[in-house]
Amino acid sequence: MPDSHASLPGSATPHAAAHGFAVQMMEMLVVPTFVLDAAGKVIIWNRACERLTGVPAKEVLGTDRHWRCFYVRERPTLADLLLTGRGSDLHALYQQQQYRNSTGNNLCAENWCDMPRTGRRRYLAVDASPILDSSGALVAVVETLRDMTDEKRAQVALERLATRDGLTGLANRRCFDDTLHAEWQRALRQDQPLSLLMVDVDNFKQYNDSHGHVKGDQCLRKVAGAVSGEMRANDLVARYGGEEFAVILPNQQLKGAAIVAERIRRRVERLQLPRGTGGDSSATVTVSIGAATALPGPGTELGQLIHTADSALYRAKHLGRNRISLPETPSIPESA
Ligand code: GH3
Ligand code: MG
Ligand code: MG
Repeated sequence: MPDSHASLPGSATPHAAAHGFAVQMMEMLVVPTFVLDAAGKVIIWNRACERLTGVPAKEVLGTDRHWRCFYVRERPTLADLLLTGRGSDLHALYQQQQYRNSTGNNLCAENWCDMPRTGRRRYLAVDASPILDSSGALVAVVETLRDMTDEKRAQVALERLATRDGLTGLANRRCFDDTLHAEWQRALRQDQPLSLLMVDVDNFKQYNDSHGHVKGDQCLRKVAGAVSGEMRANDLVARYGGEEFAVILPNQQLKGAAIVAERIRRRVERLQLPRGTGGDSSATVTVSIGAATALPGPGTELGQLIHTADSALYRAKHLGRNRISLPETPSIPESA
């Protein structure tokens, strides 16, 4: 018998041989598996679990320190939660979680684990199931683990492709549209204002003509960095198209939006990127910005918010560029 299990509850019964066989089978399973007894001590730690965690069975058997094989800081594993009836802690402790009642009160969850011994960060899908005796009392909990790291990384990469702009790394147009709709609904529910900035690089065609398209791309990346450098945690900056960016500012009045717009304008100016190659070296890359604010409710429309910000941008261009412009008639009165 391999050395990687302690005695299972009831192993001294006449069914010991069958029991031993079951333990040996679990031992050889390709699915990483461990078992806790009713006191929370490890009684089985199979070979696949050794391979996954890099921790040999003899180090954890008979202890309650199995959490150390998965995490750097002390916290319960899924098996511990099931054992101690703390299923309600699932949400706080796991990225994805599900309480499965129909299949006998087992828990399923997914999480990134740091795996201290191997030093490899893995995304694990975990199942914990109770083992009950004939009277229905909980005698042990079995936890099985699946390494889903490759699938998770592929999913994250796909999500990134679907929502990010390849050149600048900012949110793409689709993500902007979705976020703006969501923020509009939120502002409506919370009776809060929603502000929008449209940011357009001035005379960018001239930049491309002077420096070439590749340098033009680099310039767009720098401008994107400058714009996103002025964002708060809940703001969103997106590449709206070509050399145009859009900024969503939730819970922001027009006055606050104008301050953010002016900061962005100055920050781009401070990049001091020469627009042309010769002659007037004082001409640097600048942006024009149109701002608009709406208080979503009856009689206001999302399309109008975009249109108002666009019109303000157009006016900023018309008035000479490198400036911000606000709506001629603010759609909501300014509070202090
Ligand atoms: P304005 O101040 O009126 O906005 O002038 P502008 O020259 O910036 O505007 P216009 O619309 O005439 O030209 C925009 C230029 O932006 C033309 C286009 O080639 C360039 N552009 C759009 N997307 C990209 C891109 O991804 N990379 C590069 N290098 N250039 C781009
Ligand atoms: Mg432009
Ligand atoms: Mg443009």
